[in-house]
Amino acid sequence: MQHSARFVSLFFTGMLAVVSSTCLAEPETQQIPPIESRISEEKINDALSSAYKKYKNLKEGANANYIPALDKVDSSIFGIVLVTVDGKVYTAGDIKSEVSIQSISKVFTMAKVTEEKGIAALPKKVGVDATGQVFNSINAIEQHQGHEMNPLVNAGAITTTSMVSGKSYNEIWNKLLGYYSDFAGRELTVLEDIYKSEAATNQRNQAIAHLMYAYGHIDGDPLQATDIYTRQCSVGVNAKDLGTMAATLANAGTNPITGKVLVKPEDMPEILAVMATAGLYDDAGKWLYRTGLPAKSGVGGGIIAVSPGKFGIAAISPLLDEAGNSVRAQKAIADISAALGGNPYEATPYGK
Ligand code: GLU
Repeated sequence: MQHSARFVSLFFTGMLAVVSSTCLAEPETQQIPPIESRISEEKINDALSSAYKKYKNLKEGANANYIPALDKVDSSIFGIVLVTVDGKVYTAGDIKSEVSIQSISKVFTMAKVTEEKGIAALPKKVGVDATGQVFNSINAIEQHQGHEMNPLVNAGAITTTSMVSGKSYNEIWNKLLGYYSDFAGRELTVLEDIYKSEAATNQRNQAIAHLMYAYGHIDGDPLQATDIYTRQCSVGVNAKDLGTMAATLANAGTNPITGKVLVKPEDMPEILAVMATAGLYDDAGKWLYRTGLPAKSGVGGGIIAVSPGKFGIAAISPLLDEAGNSVRAQKAIADISAALGGNPYEATPYGK
């Protein structure tokens, strides 16, 4: 009895295999090898721990101080997290301490507006060109009457924030914070001391928003847009949050840990393209030349970088160079990506 039942089940399994291999033929080509078979777990751990050891004691750079509260952040924080597109998390150093997300938030607001308004909305209203000027330049606005910007410099970013739909301040803000949290895979909150300090000193950003309003790019209240933008910059994130956010971008817009779809796969190349051209302030070109990775840094000391289809990586260290990019985060990410073949421009000649 038992034998015959087993035979029947084997028979059907066999039939299914025949049917799927003859009629469907798809499963074989869809079998994606787990990321470890392409980059070994040991290799990833080695790359992270050697970068961490190499740069742990490097004291080069200084905390940002134009926002007073940033100057007080513990400058010894140093953590690195790499998350693969199949959701494996690799860490080195401090992955718990939170810093403010700052300009890295611009990427996720850009993603939100792209999803809400469609891929053509931002190029039309904001632009997708590197300005060749500092991130909070007023000259850059004047040069083209607020056109030819991108969502990662302040004028473009505040305009992008103003494009998030919602009937009230709270509705817009809760939507944005919820969206960032979905990228991180946990509920994020605002670092209130950073927000207060930045809100008390953001007159330049208010001026930028008024100019963008005057040139017809911001439709609603420019001061509300500036305040929501200031709040989005003050969201607290640790290295693991940023690593997961980066991995979501690397995984075509789906959080690889929670499985939540946050950006349509077809919208990701454009978002990554803007990160590649304008992600690291005035050193975006140097960074791309060195690593090939779309990335974004923030003056809180975080950097996220994306190796599409492979992994997202993030590092936090508040000590910044002259351009405003974390010294240790840049070095660690560049080394790790090089060790793991993360540069998307790398290829081998056909047949080799
Ligand atoms: N909230 C900061 C500002 O607008 C962001 C700066 C940054 O990280 O680039 O000045």
